[in-house]
Amino acid sequence: MRCLIIDDDPTMLSLVASLLARRGHDAETSEGLEPLEACPERLDVDLVILDYRLEGATGLDIIRLLMTRPVSPAVILLSGAERDQVMGAVALGRSAGIRMLGRLEKPLDARALLRIVDQLQASQGQIASREIRSALTRGHFLLAYQPKLCMATGRLMGVEALARWQDPEQGLVPPDRFISVAEQDGQIIPLTWQLVEQALAQQHRWTRTGIRLDLAINLSPVVLDCDDFLDAFIARVERHGVAPSTLTLELTETRGIDDLSRAHDHLTRLRDLGFGIAIDDFGTGNASMLQLYRLPFTHLKLDRAFVSECHTDPKAREIILMVIALARRLGLDVVAEGIETWEQGRMLHEAGCHAGQGYLFARPMYADIFNAWYAGYSATSSKEESSSWQTIQQKIMRCLPT
Ligand code: C2E
Ligand code: CA
Ligand code: CA
Repeated sequence: MRCLIIDDDPTMLSLVASLLARRGHDAETSEGLEPLEACPERLDVDLVILDYRLEGATGLDIIRLLMTRPVSPAVILLSGAERDQVMGAVALGRSAGIRMLGRLEKPLDARALLRIVDQLQASQGQIASREIRSALTRGHFLLAYQPKLCMATGRLMGVEALARWQDPEQGLVPPDRFISVAEQDGQIIPLTWQLVEQALAQQHRWTRTGIRLDLAINLSPVVLDCDDFLDAFIARVERHGVAPSTLTLELTETRGIDDLSRAHDHLTRLRDLGFGIAIDDFGTGNASMLQLYRLPFTHLKLDRAFVSECHTDPKAREIILMVIALARRLGLDVVAEGIETWEQGRMLHEAGCHAGQGYLFARPMYADIFNAWYAGYSATSSKEESSSWQTIQQKIMRCLPT
């Protein structure tokens, strides 16, 4: 697991970090609030071990900062004597949906800490179907939106909607843990409908307030295979008054597409109505080339496995150049995902990649946080012409939190 230890005592930091490292976890450390305010992405880990009393701040300030993150980690609080204040921080965290695992007193009992850490890791393993069912009934599934930028101009083109399960006890459950379970037990269908409803309502709100974005929705092939999916989907899009040309469907490859000719008919109908159709995670599944050949895609999403290595590994770079060239010849737009560094961005910009998304630009955000980000970003994005990567970089940097 990825862990972050926050404590103003350097001896404590190295003690806990080495305990966790010996258990095989990635342990990062921070001495207090300020460096995390400067770089809040560092909080996006699986577990935060937090000393309540920090220099010039308290655990409460860190919990408040955690509440602004789309992905909240589980939290263990360490404390000295201030029991009531610490319980206040636990209550605040719980009310915000953060998984507060408990409180440990100093001096630290290493075995007690490791017991909680091991339990967390075990619980991250399995999600039961009944938990998904209950989360569906209680409306715990939400969408976070990650911006997609034009790599030639830096202009915001759209967003990808990503499922988030905000559980009052477990905190945030990432999609990798529940999508495949839901695909296997059939609940992907009601789940998809809940998320599609949210996405369409959001797109309608954005359009009404003058925000024009291409909204990408992830669709599992299992859903596409369903008999009445297509008509029901088109009817919902109409009911929400959303133009098909503002929607892209990203087909995830998790289970492959069983019936290609049926999928072809469905996708062709959608494409003819104006929807964008993207092949997701391109390059990772066995069927990618066959799907690309047989199905009427309009976009290709380059998997982050290649993107993350593209500036250091010549092989990854060659593959990217080849895929971009191939996509151009087939008339598809390429979207690179998982861009984390300026070097990766520059490489993709120079390679003529159309669009990109990644933590470098922005993390997935809930709609209200996205709206604030959008206001800041669009204020700097008046020019539409192609720019040098340096100009784009400066534009993006002006909008990053300082
Ligand atoms: P995906 O469609 O490939 O989505 C991109 C994933 O990469 C997202 O993970 C996103 O948060 C993450 N990501 C974005 N930028 C970066 C970056 O710079 N660095 C790194 N390391 N990661 C980055 P997430 O949200 O955990 O989603 C995981 C997968 O779950 C998605 O992969 C998609 O296959 C699936 N998924 C998410 N939402 C839905 C949904 O509503 N329906 C279906 N069927 N699948 C979904
Ligand atoms: Ca996707
Ligand atoms: Ca991917």
